[in-house]
Amino acid sequence: MKTALKFMVFALISSSAFAQFTQAPLPYAYDALEPFVDAQTMEIHYSKHHAGYVNNLNKALKEVGLEGNTDLNAILGNISKYSTAVRNNAGGHYNHTLFWNVLTPNKDTKLSADLAAAIETTFGSMEAFKTQMVQAAATRFGSGWAWLVVTPENKLVICSTPNQDNPLMDDAPVKGTPIFAIDVWEHAYYLKYQNKRGDYLQSIWSVINWDEVSRLYAQTQVK
Ligand code: MN
Repeated sequence: MKTALKFMVFALISSSAFAQFTQAPLPYAYDALEPFVDAQTMEIHYSKHHAGYVNNLNKALKEVGLEGNTDLNAILGNISKYSTAVRNNAGGHYNHTLFWNVLTPNKDTKLSADLAAAIETTFGSMEAFKTQMVQAAATRFGSGWAWLVVTPENKLVICSTPNQDNPLMDDAPVKGTPIFAIDVWEHAYYLKYQNKRGDYLQSIWSVINWDEVSRLYAQTQVK
């Protein structure tokens, strides 16, 4: 009895001693982005795919003795030192958290004057930016992401990454701070758009949270 009690106390302490990654609530309802992103896709994407990355990240960190490390940016910045499971799930958690936040049902979000000017200087126009972003997303073979990042030289750059990789990873070919992302895994669009990734990439622009993209850009400009 005494041993059983000791074991229970130990189990309680060991399960609660370390901070773990948790999934923030989705900032809108599953059906809020209809008809551009359907409710069933949102529900499965958030409650199964993203939740899975969070659970598996906590497990993978524990396996390598890193439980309690909840500095996601630091983990991503040293990702080449970690296991594939840490890489895939840390990327999956970061990428989806950003993605939910740069989408919104709100129709009156706006680019800040600063970001609008930077986009115009870099890409020529907003339309040219969108075209290049869609191109990066459309040509990513298989699963991955398209990104708008601010590089360490303070340049706006569009790039794409495979799987759950991202530009914060120390071994990413293009490194920078992501301010906008599009998920091009089939799980992000297949139920509604099937094989038509291009149609999904046209629709997604109707639900972008430009306030949030602008806020993320402004954060990179604070010296
Ligand atoms: Mn996804």
